[in-house]
Amino acid sequence: MIYTKAKLKDGAVVCSPITAKNTYTYCAVCGKEIQIDLRELILAKAEDPYDTDVNCAECSAKMMHRGNIDIDAVIRLADVCKDIGYGMELHGLCEDFEVDDIRALAPEEYELFVDELLDKISEVRHAG
Ligand SMILES: [Zn+2]
Repeated sequence: MIYTKAKLKDGAVVCSPITAKNTYTYCAVCGKEIQIDLRELILAKAEDPYDTDVNCAECSAKMMHRGNIDIDAVIRLADVCKDIGYGMELHGLCEDFEVDDIRALAPEEYELFVDELLDKISEVRHAG
């Protein structure tokens, strides 16, 4: 068992086992207290698990800010969707957008196309 030891003001020593549920840190961005599982830091090969910046879920999401979607990315995504068996959905979506080929999409449609494609896939998957 690994445990922490803390000395209180009155000299009493408190020991408590370290578990996946009682280790906390502060989000390096917003300072919110977050629970952290040390195993994750170790698995993530953090160089120094005692001094690693960790971000809360919200800040991590913000950091993964979506960049601009270009046609190459749309084509790559479409290819992957075809590969994993969503050619039908892709085809249906092209019909919705009234294009025969993804390359015919207008740049302002890329984002919507990607959203709709992912939505369709998620609908189909959850319809099981
Ligand atoms: Zn945060």
